[in-house]
Amino acid sequence: MSSGRSFYVTTPIFYVNDAPHIGHAYTEVAADMLARWHRQSGDDTWSLTGTDEHGEKILRTATANGTTPQEWADKLVRESWIPLLETIDISNDDFIRTTDERHEKNVQVFLQKLYDDGFIYSGEYSGLYCVGCEEFKPESEVVDGTGEFAGQKVCAIHSKPLERLEEKNYFFRMSDFSQRLLDLYEQNPEFVQPESARNEVIQFVRQGLNDLSISRSSFDWGVKVPWDDSHVVYVWFDALLNYITAVGYGQDDATFASRWPGMHLVGKDILRFHAVIWPAMLMAAGLPVPHRVFGHGWLLVGGEKMSKSKLTGIAPHEITDTFGSDAFRYYFMSAIHFGQDGSFSWEDLSARYQAELANGFGNLASRTLAMITRYYDGVVPAPAEYTEADLKVQRVVAEAVANADAAIEKIALHESLAAIWTVVEELNGYITVQEPWALAKDEANRERLNTVLYTVAEGLRALAVVLSPTIPKATTKLWTALGVEDSLGALTAQPIRSAGVWGQLVPGTTVGALEALFPRIETTDAE
Ligand SMILES: [Zn+2]
Repeated sequence: MSSGRSFYVTTPIFYVNDAPHIGHAYTEVAADMLARWHRQSGDDTWSLTGTDEHGEKILRTATANGTTPQEWADKLVRESWIPLLETIDISNDDFIRTTDERHEKNVQVFLQKLYDDGFIYSGEYSGLYCVGCEEFKPESEVVDGTGEFAGQKVCAIHSKPLERLEEKNYFFRMSDFSQRLLDLYEQNPEFVQPESARNEVIQFVRQGLNDLSISRSSFDWGVKVPWDDSHVVYVWFDALLNYITAVGYGQDDATFASRWPGMHLVGKDILRFHAVIWPAMLMAAGLPVPHRVFGHGWLLVGGEKMSKSKLTGIAPHEITDTFGSDAFRYYFMSAIHFGQDGSFSWEDLSARYQAELANGFGNLASRTLAMITRYYDGVVPAPAEYTEADLKVQRVVAEAVANADAAIEKIALHESLAAIWTVVEELNGYITVQEPWALAKDEANRERLNTVLYTVAEGLRALAVVLSPTIPKATTKLWTALGVEDSLGALTAQPIRSAGVWGQLVPGTTVGALEALFPRIETTDAE
């Protein structure tokens, strides 16, 4: 069922040289939760992820490993990045590689247009370059080295010496766009979010922008500058364009028009590229800027940032091997205020798994189905007259769905799950008060028991629908056990925004057995 809306979301593309860690997986899951939510709402949804494969660092690593950069990238994509998506159950619609022909060709189309329109000129450049960042570093991010690098200038992020580069470069006239960018931030406060990120970007642009060096000639692993093949395109300029080359820019105008503009989820460390350079590039090309750039916070492990440079290194599979992909997804989306930094710890993960997923949701599902099986031979009873307690459950469900959807609109993923969790709590409280096991002892209470068990089962139906973007595996199992496939259709076809409309579960439906959705985990104290 189409809603008439369209939704296009991107993650940053992975730099192939990195090893996948939970920071990468965090962004992926957030984008996936949004994509699944919109897809299930009938919005024409497209989710994109991929890999960033050019640049000097890749070339150096490949050479050091005795291989070509293309072979090196192929290997990492095959062995690390595609498997990561499987590990955390990502439902992306496309995967772009910056070495794809559709990308390289249309980076050149884009660049040529900017050149023809006078936004690119050639000049001499001299600056301190960090190969780790693939960026000329502004003075504010250059610090004095210590230890083995004492006496040298080093990158504030990488703590490694910077290289003084002097070469002929092509420059993009980014300084022309300072005022237009400030107008954009002013007129469209949603463009950069959250608010803290927005303020930082505005501060940065207010200081005035320099033109951007967009080519390199000292190595050749990149997209060739179309009018001068002794230069390759600066890796960031190349990489940002993936968001449009993946949806038809330069070669399929109809698709491009239907998808673009989209929204970008990025870590706050690369916000500036997405909220300053990228919209300036698009403005120069006469293209619409993204709807929104959302910069989420960092994951802290033991107080330290998980990042591409200082690997505090937890691989996603270390978590999913024990807890499963659903728990990974639920934990990171619910435990961290999306947009702010958040701490990861094994203790917290383990505690929330047990309290919220196993005891809160999993147990609710299994005991409800067990009672329907025991008291009604597995056939969902028809409700009799609703009492105030039952009507309250219905109101909680309706409000939770509406609030969860509103939270998704503002990318408050944690808030969305908190809204949904009010239903888990309401249903568990309801069962405790209504005591269906006590009602079942006396035939005179049969009608009341019908209503109570129908109410809980229907609440579970709604929960399965609204939780499916976050915990797709567990909710699919629940959906099957609820036996609703025939009457209601596939779980992923359930329109999410009307999940709170009461009474969709058809009495007479036969439920089946449900294996433990979140089985008990034997943990060792060693962790
Ligand atoms: Zn650096």
